[in-house]
Amino acid sequence: MIFNNDNNNNKKRSAFFYWGIAIAIFAILNIFVFPSLLQRSIKEVGYNEFISMTESRQIDEVVIESDQILFTVKNTNTVCKTGVMNDPDLIDRLTKSGAVFRAEIPQRTSMLEYFLISYILPIAIFVILWRIIAKRLLPKMGDGANSMMFGMGGAKSNAKVYVKSSNGIKFKDVAGEEEAKELLQEIVDFLHNPEKYREIGASMPKGALLVGPPGTGKTLLAKAVAGEADVPFFSISGSEFVEMFVGMGAAKVRDLFKQAAEKAPCIVFIDEIDAVGKKRDGSGFSGNDEREQTLNQLLTEMDGFDGSKGVVILAATNRPDSLDPALLRPGRFDRRIPVELPDLKGRVDILKVHAAKIKIADNVDFDAIARMAAGASGAELANIVNEGALRAVRDGRRFATQADLMESVEVVIAGYQKKNRILSSKEKLIVAYHEIGHALVAALQTNSAPVQKITIIPRTSGALGYTMQVDEGDHYLMSRTELENKIATLTGGRAAEDLIFGEITTGASNDIEQATKLARGMITRYGMSKEFGMVAMENVQNSYLGGDSNLSCSPETQTKVDKLVVELVHREYIKAKQLLADNKDKLHELAKYLYEHETITGEEFMSILSARRQIPERTETVPGIAEEVADGAGTGTDTETVSG
Ligand code: ADP
Ligand code: MG
Ligand code: ZN
Repeated sequence: MIFNNDNNNNKKRSAFFYWGIAIAIFAILNIFVFPSLLQRSIKEVGYNEFISMTESRQIDEVVIESDQILFTVKNTNTVCKTGVMNDPDLIDRLTKSGAVFRAEIPQRTSMLEYFLISYILPIAIFVILWRIIAKRLLPKMGDGANSMMFGMGGAKSNAKVYVKSSNGIKFKDVAGEEEAKELLQEIVDFLHNPEKYREIGASMPKGALLVGPPGTGKTLLAKAVAGEADVPFFSISGSEFVEMFVGMGAAKVRDLFKQAAEKAPCIVFIDEIDAVGKKRDGSGFSGNDEREQTLNQLLTEMDGFDGSKGVVILAATNRPDSLDPALLRPGRFDRRIPVELPDLKGRVDILKVHAAKIKIADNVDFDAIARMAAGASGAELANIVNEGALRAVRDGRRFATQADLMESVEVVIAGYQKKNRILSSKEKLIVAYHEIGHALVAALQTNSAPVQKITIIPRTSGALGYTMQVDEGDHYLMSRTELENKIATLTGGRAAEDLIFGEITTGASNDIEQATKLARGMITRYGMSKEFGMVAMENVQNSYLGGDSNLSCSPETQTKVDKLVVELVHREYIKAKQLLADNKDKLHELAKYLYEHETITGEEFMSILSARRQIPERTETVPGIAEEVADGAGTGTDTETVSG
């Protein structure tokens, strides 16, 4: 958001606008609503009803006029009216029923009501309107002396306060993330018995910053801390600080910390802190003074805090690199708690936590599903389980099965199965060869992951088919050979098209992108080229969100890098094509199978591949080493997007 002086006219006008509305509302109330409130309403009733009321002794006071009878009903405030009939017994009957005759029934309400309605109510309404308007106007006036003028309706932090509840989220609801839980457990422990820490002279870190990719459970962890700790928990999102009105953010921060100080020991949680905590740019030409003020206020408040008081500040972000360094220095968010994408065991645990919430078959192999969903975040895994349950409902089953979950992995990873999009048979054949090309190259190289499943059923995500590779366990280091093989695998699709049809298609755009990225990374980041060796030519800016990178080298070097990338990818392409050419019979056989069945599982694939001939590379390797194969930094799937 950008605020500059041009906006001020606008704000002034809107101030008048609000007051105008207030006065109009007040006038309408005064002219139309209050008088009618003061007037007692007169209800018209039939003569029969009047008689029956008389008989049931309901009449309180009565006035008989020449053309009408006015009366009040006992225990109510209403005045009723009925016509006059020729009824000689009327007086007699009324007297018997205990009605009191009057000359006039006051149509005005009592003094007290009169006072309330004509004095107190208007003032109350006025005060309420004033509050609403003051709230809107206050930030525009800044919160210095002007706010004193308004007197009421200060800037509230509107932080939500969680009170410990029995059904709240606990640490056990957060699967995996053991390290994060351990670090947070310490904070909970501190809040429970601060004496233990004080005795030894240890003070808790003032702030802890949860960092990790989106959907890994940062917000969930913070809520779990709230559920575990027996203390008040203030939760606010960073974006809530940056409001529409100038000065509001800083005021909110102040209010939040004031509240927290009153409630200590307590926890303050600022979600998505990057919304306020972004680096301040030194240009002095910043478009967002408001955010900077808010950040400054936050820094000031954090400094002003006495850590031993027992206020712990938690924050979460998925862009730690973009945070202002001042926030991260000791004394502020000095503890960083990494919340990473779950590993295999973590994925299994997360699936189980969420599967416990739905009805599910007993024989589900969570391990297999977790393996398929390599690279999925906690949120995606939760989604997979939910999709599985939805599928079961759709098919009219009472519980979800393994197949449901397997299908939902694909749904979540590759988009919904699009049944009505038909590929022409020629296209289908090309896609089949393309996918088998990937899989075959992967399988023929020792270090590539075995194929879990290949399908050529189009998805709504635009993928025409995909090869799902499965990592057998997680690992973090990739060797040069593994990287090269991965590039070869990525080029395998295009190589197969070229080899079989002598023609290439747009289907490989995603492969090309990935292969290029890997090749470039090998040269500029991992120091895997002979020419440059261990020299970093690229800096990764944001390691969690896609990883934008910056080239930091001379134009000549860039040209060289580009040339090396082209050479590397080309080399792997040739290798892949050669592998496929050597195994053309298998390529045909597998592609035909895939074309006919549309889906081929890893086992079917391997049994066809090794039907007549063992793969020499695989038998040569020591068992166990061949299993430790690469999936790379990717998601474990390879999708073909349609371009153009
Ligand atoms: P973040 O704040 O890191 O972006 P969230 O905490 O909002 O992610 O997570 C979104 C949802 O994903 C959670 O509500 C939960 O259902 C699921 N989830 C994420 N991580 C986990 C986990 N480790 N264990 C269980 N569920 C998880
Ligand atoms: Mg979150
Ligand atoms: Zn491909």
